[in-house]
Amino acid sequence: MAITDDELKQRTEALIEEVDPHANDQYTFRGAQYDAGLAFVHFPEGKGGLGLSRSKQSIVDQVLRDAKVPYHDLMVNPIGIGMGAPVVLNHGTEEMHEKHLKKIFTGEDIWCQLFSEPTHGSDVAGIPSRAIRDGDEWLVNGQKVWTTLAHLSNYGMLLTRTNPDTPKHKGLSYFILDMHSPGVEVRPLYQITGEAEFNEVFLTDVRIADNQRLGDEGDGWRVAITTLMNERVALGGGSGGKGGGPIRTLINLWNTKKDELGEHDRKVMRDQVADLWIKAEILRLTNQRAKVLAKSGDAGPGGSVGKLFSAELNQKIFETCMSLEGAEGMLHPAGYPMVRSEEAHGSSFVSGQFLRSRANTIEGGTSEIMRNILGERVLGLPGDVRVDKDVAWSEIPR
Ligand SMILES: Cc1cc2nc3c(=O)[nH]c(=O)nc-3n(C[C@H](O)[C@H](O)[C@H](O)COP(=O)(O)OP(=O)(O)OC[C@H]3O[C@@H](n4cnc5c(N)ncnc54)[C@H](O)[C@@H]3O)c2cc1C
Repeated sequence: MAITDDELKQRTEALIEEVDPHANDQYTFRGAQYDAGLAFVHFPEGKGGLGLSRSKQSIVDQVLRDAKVPYHDLMVNPIGIGMGAPVVLNHGTEEMHEKHLKKIFTGEDIWCQLFSEPTHGSDVAGIPSRAIRDGDEWLVNGQKVWTTLAHLSNYGMLLTRTNPDTPKHKGLSYFILDMHSPGVEVRPLYQITGEAEFNEVFLTDVRIADNQRLGDEGDGWRVAITTLMNERVALGGGSGGKGGGPIRTLINLWNTKKDELGEHDRKVMRDQVADLWIKAEILRLTNQRAKVLAKSGDAGPGGSVGKLFSAELNQKIFETCMSLEGAEGMLHPAGYPMVRSEEAHGSSFVSGQFLRSRANTIEGGTSEIMRNILGERVLGLPGDVRVDKDVAWSEIPR
């Protein structure tokens, strides 16, 4: 069924008319959005989508923004929506679609990503955590780290080693882990922002039923790639339309501070602000293009362009914000408290966002790794040196 842009807009307006987002809670409004196929328009009908191009989601999002709908993906369930839903759609059973997709979108179930371990982040394929089969179940032991939102999550996307005697990429399996299972212990990690948005997760004799596996046994790396490619689109995808997201913070600050600057400072800063605004616009258009190219839930390596560019741009934007703030930028509201964040990315003050942006070039794959992916998979340059590629994981010296 072909749906025009105007029809999509009208359907979104009708949703807002029928289920007033200001009079209904998040679960009710977003549940109705999912049922109307306006959650992930590129997903199939009946699964939160309408089978359209991913780029058409921006039409829905713009209508929601114009109506000041208060529930945004990033604040609701960033990892579940950005990565969990596409992974479940692409690799899960019908039963898993039914059980998880809607609750991920409404935020009823928060999800986290259990990939990185203390010894393996960039080289996540080499992780040592282990799952050993016990009948219809797996017994998992190991430690995860930097697990964003694990303390609020009901489910985690768990990558773990099920066969140590094959090369590292071939011995991994991927499970949906119920975070309330016995043996799962979540401990906070505090960041320079003062928040503890991420965690260490200890897994001790955790039992997972085999029917919670996504993909074949030993094929977890393929499922992990779907997750990582979608993570890059989610992280690099920018927030909002033209002039939205971090660049808006800078423009607002510029407008309040520019008259306090001396003539020369003002000229220099104006150039910097204009340059960043242009780059933010290039990022927005690049992401639009990536979304048009991306198939349903399958982001492809092109998402790494947006992730790389947005991480480095965010840092420059918030550095410029700090320059505009001057000495005031060193002040933190409420005495720089150490808090457990109840929301994703809770820092709303500029110095908090500046500190948080330092993580942008690390989280979801470092900028060096993004450049490797772009070099190899987009530009077709020779690959990184991989001496352990064909060696059984158990034989790799460590
Ligand atoms: C805010 C934040 C949130 C996060 N949330 C999650 C989460 O929810 N779940 C999760 O699983 N992980 C999460 N992570 C972890 C993140 O994915 C890793 O930190 C990241 O992949 C880097 O791994 P590492 O820290 O082990 O660094 P390392 O891999 O040890 O890298 C150290 C340095 O070496 C460089 N390097 C490594 N390999 C190469 C190479 N082949 N070529 C060139 N340079 C290289 C890196 O670029 C980096 O500069 C999060 C991290 C942050 C900062």
